[in-house]
Formats: sequence, structure tokens, C-alpha cells
Amino acid sequence: MDTSATPGIELAGVRKIYADGTAAVESLDLRVRSGEVLALVGPSGCGKSTTLRMINRLVEPSGGVISVDGVDVMGQDPVELRRGIGYVIQHVGLFPHRTVSQNVATVPRLLKWDRADIAVRVAELLDLVGLPEATYGPRYPHELSGGERQRVGVARALAVRPPVLLMDEPFGAVDPQGRRRLQREFQALQRELGTTVVMVTHDIREAVLLADRIAVLSRGGVLEQLGTPEEVTEAPANAFVADFLADFGEAPAA
Ligand code: ADP
Repeated sequence: MDTSATPGIELAGVRKIYADGTAAVESLDLRVRSGEVLALVGPSGCGKSTTLRMINRLVEPSGGVISVDGVDVMGQDPVELRRGIGYVIQHVGLFPHRTVSQNVATVPRLLKWDRADIAVRVAELLDLVGLPEATYGPRYPHELSGGERQRVGVARALAVRPPVLLMDEPFGAVDPQGRRRLQREFQALQRELGTTVVMVTHDIREAVLLADRIAVLSRGGVLEQLGTPEEVTEAPANAFVADFLADFGEAPAA
């Protein structure tokens, strides 16, 4: 896999103090390597989503520097920035009055791709996520199961082969069986495309399964440990990480 063209992401002294004074992230240093899947894990409220959303500026940082591919995100137009960064959230937020195909075509259309290219790409993507266009393309989101909607969300996020993909509990709303299948599909896609992925999950098992490295955060976005799934599960850096793992019972071997 050639990931030389895939950007890394660097967070240096990143902070977010919300308007009400909540210190969601106090000062976070983190480097996401080019082409890796990095999972942010930790208990609810520890600042995972805030961290993720600062990367595409859905949340504006209060301080520090975030760069994608060496370029400071604060120097970029937020709308342009977001077009180059796929974003998948738990409740995908498909456009309800657009068909599955139209939903997947959203960003290519914004970027004024050629119609024929869009059609080819949409068919290819729907195929990749196991929703053949002939059957699923003309449907509307309400005509899909939760898992199918989530797959459309993944397809939409990948439509323009974004070099960076941010995922916030992407498989959270899907039943366990469907989730396992989606996780496998996601993994195959990520490997094929070499996308740099930052994924938020509260589920250490999901992180162990999908991530190259895991960042364990505690309240205030404090980085307690950064390591491979093996390192984190076999050699927790401290009592916080050990307790967090223990809450999930015995973590599966990576
Ligand atoms: P996580 O994703 O780990 O559950 P979040 O990043 O969502 O954590 O939240 C971190 C902290 O910031 C929490 O205390 C949360 O209540 C707070 N928070 C999140 N969004 C806002 C907001 N818009 N205004 C004020 N506080 C917020």
C-alpha cells in the first residue's frame, strides 16, 4: 500500500474551552501517522468528540495548532477543509429527501465532477459497501435499515477518496452482527485506499479490532497512553488505563 500521498495529522498543545467554561481538552499533543487508523478511546465526556471535531473545525480550537499534511487548519477555509476530510457520525444524517445515490454523490457534485464520473464512482462505492446500486440507489434513507444507512454514510464520506477520514462512533447505532460486517468492510476499504483515519469509540474492543494505534484519554483530553492495541491491552501505562480496560472485562487479544 502506498501511503506516501496520505497526510498525517499533528496536534500540538491543542485546547478547547467551551463558552460555558468547560475545559473539554486542556492541552493535547498527538500525532496521527500517514495512513494509520488511530482510535481515540476513553470514558464518556473525556473529550474524544471535541478532539475529532477540532480537526475539521466543526469545533474551533481555543488554542494550540492542528495541522493536516503539514498545513495549519486555522489558515484554511473551513468549508474547503471539510471537503477534503470525510466525516462519519453515529446517526449519519443522510439527506432524507435524496435517494441513496444522490446522497453518495453529494460531495462529488459540490466539487463539480463530471456527471459520468460521478455515476461511475457512486456505483463503485455502493458496491464496495455491499449495497448494489440497482437495488439500493433509488431508495430513500427511510427505506433502509439502520445498518444500511450507516453504510451509505460511509460510502458518502469516501466518495471523493478523502485522504483523511474522521469517524465518531461510526458503528454505534448498528446491531452487533451488522456491526461486525461493517467493521470488516471498513477495514478492507481503509486498506485499499490507505486513508488516514481518526476514529472515536467508547468501545475498546472496536479499537483493538480496527486501529493501528490507540490513544486512551481521560477527562480533559489528557492522553494517558498511546500505543498499539497489544501495548495498550497487555501493558497498560497506568491505573487509569488498566481500570478502563477492566470495565470491558478481558480485552480480546489483538
Ligand atoms: P466524549 O466524546 O469523550 O464523550 P466530548 O468531547 O463530547 O466527550 O465532551 C467533552 C466535555 O465537553 C464534556 O464535559 C462535555 O459535556 C463538554 N461539552 C461538549 N460539547 C460542549 C458544548 N458545546 N458546550 C459545552 N460543553 C460541551
